[in-house]
Amino acid sequence: MGWAGMGLTFILYATGRCNLRCGYCGGSFDPAKVPWRVEYDLSLLDDLVRDGDVIAYYGGEPLLNMRFIEEVMGRFEGCRHVIQTNGLLLDRVSRNTLERLDAVLVSIDGDRRVTDRWRGRGVYDRVIGGVARLRKAGFSGDVVARMTITPDSDIHRDVKYLLGLGLFDHVHWQLSMIWVDRGLWGDLWGWIESSYKPGLDKLMELWISGLERGEILGMAPFQGVLKRVLSGGPTPPCGSGENSFTVLTDGRIILCPIAVEEGWAQMGLLGAISRRELEGRRNVINEPCRSCCLLGICGARCLYTHRERLWGDEGVKVICACSRHIINLIMRNLSRVEEAAEKSGLRLEDLAYPEYNNTVEIMP
Ligand code: SF4
Ligand code: SF4
Ligand code: SF4
Repeated sequence: MGWAGMGLTFILYATGRCNLRCGYCGGSFDPAKVPWRVEYDLSLLDDLVRDGDVIAYYGGEPLLNMRFIEEVMGRFEGCRHVIQTNGLLLDRVSRNTLERLDAVLVSIDGDRRVTDRWRGRGVYDRVIGGVARLRKAGFSGDVVARMTITPDSDIHRDVKYLLGLGLFDHVHWQLSMIWVDRGLWGDLWGWIESSYKPGLDKLMELWISGLERGEILGMAPFQGVLKRVLSGGPTPPCGSGENSFTVLTDGRIILCPIAVEEGWAQMGLLGAISRRELEGRRNVINEPCRSCCLLGICGARCLYTHRERLWGDEGVKVICACSRHIINLIMRNLSRVEEAAEKSGLRLEDLAYPEYNNTVEIMP
């Protein structure tokens, strides 16, 4: 079945409140924009959600509203359930809830120094403690480290470090660009050329050497891009507006979970939008992506940055340069990857990830 025949992913805001104030985000939403409590009647979801869909709990910090999560899980037993959390309250998740979760995406940026620098002192230890408890409680689903990349990041060092902990099945990263102040990045192009690109190249070598030993290191962007090379996927790769839709706490349906206020992202209210309007919906992609030969793989990278050109032309160029590098890296090494995998009896398809849209955005 092609990707278009798969179910939908619904990202449900459990609250607009957060218990952190990370340097690149700022913490809770203004409750006038994203209420801290869920204000709609859950029965309104029945018209949209089908068995086989994915429900992802989001926020703010979704574990601040455990009751909502438990109620939705009980209501949609035929769905896959995913949570995106900052990891501070993982001890609140009951065994029963844990058993129903397919994937847990935990925000962590690297080691203690890198993580605490942006997320706050003591956060790293709490997150790692929470994930270790999750494992000890027997959670066998997919645990994904979701990194935010800042100028302090060294992609090779930090990804290798997180995989080396043995706690995470996959590591994914997103470049903290466009929605943060451009000044934060200082010598942005210098970082890309001297740190990010060579770091990705080194990670590719690490990935291939793992494959030669029969080990698939869980580098989500490599595996996700590979999947798109093999079988395509939505535009953008995260599926926003094509196979992924977000419901805010006030019942508004939006295309991308980040675009809570932007006019282009507003679809309407729960109850007024039908399943049919969501299924088969396609985004309009503009230049320079529309006529790019890499569009099928890159997918314009991110709908939000594609629409909101907050860093102007430079932002478009910078995102494009990073996307091209990772795609070219994979294309260039495709036969090496295939040969390494073959040695261990694996096919390229075995390396593809994710199996379903679990809200890992794929393109960093
Ligand atoms: S944990 Fe996430 S939502 Fe909360 S402040 Fe940090 S980045 Fe923002
Ligand atoms: S490689 Fe650049 S131009 Fe092509 S689709 Fe991606 S961001 Fe757009
Ligand atoms: S990758 Fe972009 S479009 Fe997709 S969810 Fe993130 S911000 Fe939204």
